[in-house]
Amino acid sequence: MPKIVIAIDGFSSCGKSTTAKQVAARMGYAYIDTGAMYRSVSLYFLQNHIALTNPKAVQDALPHIHITFNFNPKTGRNETCLNGLNVEEEIRKMYISNIVSEVSAIPEVRYAMVAQQQKLGRKRGVVMDGRDIGTKVFPDAELKIFMTADPVIRAQRRQIELLQKGEMIGLDVILENLKKRDFIDSNRSEGPLRKAEDAIELDTSYLTLDEQIDWVIQQADEKISKLHRKGHFKPIDA
Ligand code: C5P
Repeated sequence: MPKIVIAIDGFSSCGKSTTAKQVAARMGYAYIDTGAMYRSVSLYFLQNHIALTNPKAVQDALPHIHITFNFNPKTGRNETCLNGLNVEEEIRKMYISNIVSEVSAIPEVRYAMVAQQQKLGRKRGVVMDGRDIGTKVFPDAELKIFMTADPVIRAQRRQIELLQKGEMIGLDVILENLKKRDFIDSNRSEGPLRKAEDAIELDTSYLTLDEQIDWVIQQADEKISKLHRKGHFKPIDA
């Protein structure tokens, strides 16, 4: 069966990554967490004292940033590596969440990441989650989902995630961070967070994770059957 690109965009902490990961596993697709890429760039900039306001320093640093997703047999998951070092845990911490939207708003950073993401999805058969996947990275994605959820519910989910990783952060601090990121992400000049015109909206506020996953898979199955019937599949690049 030919494979498609599934683009999952939306606000922070709507359950995009968790859903996308499971959908990819069940469909035998690759999962690409594009937020992890911007988080890794943020970590690199912090570690190497790259001033976000210095375009030359940013431009010079970008070729030195190599992000890969490597399988970790201990966890059974693909984990983010920055220049060969596993940074999966580090990039999820609050100090990274606090600067990532400023980093991801830098046009040069976006050009570099979008090019890598397009390369990763070139052969299709990917589930990619982010903010601009359906609008910028894969405007021709066969299935586009735009996730939303009540901000307080999103903050509560994030708080539980952070607690499970040993970080205890107040709900108000998390809510403030989510709102700030949503604002910066939606208002930047390059690749702003937008619902693509042909995206289907999914409000996850009162859905369980299983319900979200089943819903996306059902949409994908319907899309694949429809495209198959119409003979619309493009040949896969060699
Ligand atoms: O998905 P996650 O919350 O980990 O993303 C972290 C940040 O990375 C977002 O707040 C956003 O600033 C940035 N991002 C982006 N474009 C994407 C994915 C993430 O700008 N495609």
